[in-house]
Formats: sequence, structure tokens, C-alpha cells
Amino acid sequence: MVTTNPEAPSQETELKIVEDATCTFCGCVCDDIELTVENNHITKAKRACVLGKAWFLNHEVEDRPSCLIDGQPATVEEGYDLAAKILTDGDYPIIYGLSDAPCEAQRKAVGIADWIDGTIDTTTSVCHGPSGMAFQGVGEVTCSLGEVANRGDMIIFWGSNPAESHPRHFTKYSLMPKGMFVPNGRKDRTCVIVDVRKTKSANTADIFLQIKPRKDFEALWTLRALAQNIELDPALVLEETGVELAVFQDLMDRMKACKFGVIFFGMGLTMTRGKHCNSEALLALTRDMNAYTRFVAKPNRGHGNVTGADNVVSWRTGYPFGVNHSRGYPRFNPGEYTTSDTLANREADCGMMIACDPMANFSQPAREHLASIPYIALDTKITPTTRAAKVAFSVATYGINTGGTVYRMDDVPIPLRPSCDSPHPSDFEVLSQIEKRVQAIIASR
Ligand code: SF4
Repeated sequence: MVTTNPEAPSQETELKIVEDATCTFCGCVCDDIELTVENNHITKAKRACVLGKAWFLNHEVEDRPSCLIDGQPATVEEGYDLAAKILTDGDYPIIYGLSDAPCEAQRKAVGIADWIDGTIDTTTSVCHGPSGMAFQGVGEVTCSLGEVANRGDMIIFWGSNPAESHPRHFTKYSLMPKGMFVPNGRKDRTCVIVDVRKTKSANTADIFLQIKPRKDFEALWTLRALAQNIELDPALVLEETGVELAVFQDLMDRMKACKFGVIFFGMGLTMTRGKHCNSEALLALTRDMNAYTRFVAKPNRGHGNVTGADNVVSWRTGYPFGVNHSRGYPRFNPGEYTTSDTLANREADCGMMIACDPMANFSQPAREHLASIPYIALDTKITPTTRAAKVAFSVATYGINTGGTVYRMDDVPIPLRPSCDSPHPSDFEVLSQIEKRVQAIIASR
């Protein structure tokens, strides 16, 4: 809701309050932020955490052209035309990114990939991609964060450090809230942290298990065995995991005795040795626990709408990321159709990078190949990726300048409530215009 304050300091200062604004900085997607906007600039962000405050208060619309072609200012119309030509001229076009764009723009991107028989991939492929594969293999016993807040009495974080990555996770959803079945909040919950190092989150734990690095799979299978009452060799468990069998046994006893257990897992699990096997082990353990009590698992997601990207790509293609359309139907093959691979293997010959910065964080072979092919970049700021792009669009910031829908990390859709104007087009607008031109080119062939 937007209200204009009649007690504005002066006639020159336009002051407005935006209630229930949505922060898209991390996967918690807090939608209870109260923003104070003075002269189209956010000056206060009530209830936002330190990361959310930085997201809102540092927001500035930089005075630069909305479109650059080869680094030179151009009209957006010229940019749309050239972008469509690049994507339709290529033999192996790729589209990548999407985690910091609203679902409406993501839908357009998947549509374009379909039209051009291209490959679409999201940043999930470099964070929770292994979990996406595990969900397809094992399934997911899950729930919303609202259920965690109201019911969760055993909260386990595995390879995840929300105290630093998702600062309101504990207070808003998982540990502190006084819920319907946990009326005393934190006192009614047991918090367990499993990690290879003592993180800031570990300080809040009732039980901290420091396992050996790269031994998550072994630790999870130890718990799976204990869930089935299988006898294990204490010396072997200690040697493999770095944790005494008695500690695992105590944890398993507590897990069986709780009423509603939740395992949140992060990239400390999914991007270390074992990858999708680790995620599968954790999801299978969660499933096993349902023989005794209610247990669920949820990945702790980073980017504001990375969960939306998984959902949208899955609705449209049947797969969450790394999807190739070259045969006219979707095919899923992580390791082949994921962008770090299509670039490092020098297969892609053109592309579009949306709200991501592969030039800053991909491997050198991938970066070198991206620099050698024509590609389009959409971003709110200047990045190494926009600098090397053939066509670079400056777009408005989702959630601050534009509306739409994002998915919280528990797959709950949340509406955005924009607070300031931007001179730049939204990513939805840019992708809609490119899609129209792509369709026209294909129809004329
Ligand atoms: S926890 Fe995440 S979504 Fe919530 S205010 Fe902080 S950065 Fe924003």
C-alpha cells in the first residue's frame, strides 16, 4: 500500500510510505518492509535486516543509456532488433541467469528459448542444481515456512549459515517465532547445526555437529542407518565423519522424538563432494524419518527469485534448469546443457545473460568463450558481463522499480510492491519486445 504523508517537510520534498514492500535480496523474500521514499529515493527500510537495508538504501538509478551496442549509446528499439537477430542467427543459442528477475520476465525468457530452439539455464545450475536433480530422483517431503514457524520443534541446518546469508530466517520463520504449536518460540525448539566449521549460526545452536569436510554423505548415511536401527562400528563412524557414533545416536533419538522436524540445507551440502548424492541422501533421510514423526526438508535459497526460476522453467519445460530445445522438445542434462559447460566446451555461439554475471564468476575457459561470441546482457548495473556484451540493456530493479511475482524459498508466490520510478525499461518489457521480434523473424523465414 502506498500513502502520501500530508506532513511532508516542504513543498519540494515528495514523501511517501510504502507498506508491506517486498525485499528481493535473499530467498526469505520478506514482504513486511515499510519503506520511506523521499523524492524518489528510499531513505528508510523498517524491519529490513542489514542486507535488506543495504539493498534498499543503496538503490540508485544511475544516469546512463538504457541500451548500449558495442559500448555505444543506442535506442532501445535498435537494441531489440539486434538482440532478436543475434538470437535467431545462432546455431546454439543459450539463455542464462533469471534468478533476479520476476516470474513474468522468466516466462518470457523461456518462451524465447523455445522459439529459437535454444538452451535455457538458470543460476540454480551453480548453486542448488544438485538438489534439483535429487528432487527429480527422490522426491521432496516439504512444507511452507509458515508451517515451520507454527509447528517446527526440531530445526536442523545442514551446510547452511543463515545468520549471515539470510539474517531474518531465525527471527521470522525458523527459530524465534511463537507459533500455534510452539507457543514459547525458541524455548520450544531444538536447533541443530551441522557444518564443517563453526559458523556464526553455530553460536545459536543447541547441538553443533562439526563433521569432517567432504563427509556429508557419510554423515547422512550414518543417520539413515541409525533410523533403521542398524548397528554401526563406532571407530569407523568416527574415522569417516569426525563425530562420535554416540552423538549421532543422541541426535537420531531426538529426531525420532520430535513432533515436527525440519532440515534446511545449503550449498555447504550441495556444492561439496557428492553434490546431488548428498542432496539425495538428505531427502531420503527426511523421507525415512516420516516412519516415526513428521519431518520435512527445504533448501535455503540465495537469490531473491531463484525459486521462481526453478518453478517457471519447470512449468514450461518439465525440468528446473539446463534445458535444451534443439530437437523441438525439452531435454534435461546437467553437465551438458548447463551454461558453465556450454561455454567451457565452446558449443554456444550466441546468448542472452539476464540478471547474472558469468564474466565475473565462471571458469576462465567459459569466460573466454563468452567474450568471443555475440551476446545480449540485461542488468540493473554495469558488470563485467554487461561491459563485454554486444547489446547491453540497463533495466529497472525488480521489487523497487517494478512489480511482478517472486517465489519465496518455500515455493510460496509473493507480489512485489514497487516504491520508486526508473527511467529504464523493466526486464519483462525488454524480453517481451525481443520475443515479438524473434517471432516476426521466424515467421518470415
Ligand atoms: S532476510 Fe533477506 S529478504 Fe529479509 S530483509 Fe534480509 S535480505 Fe531482505
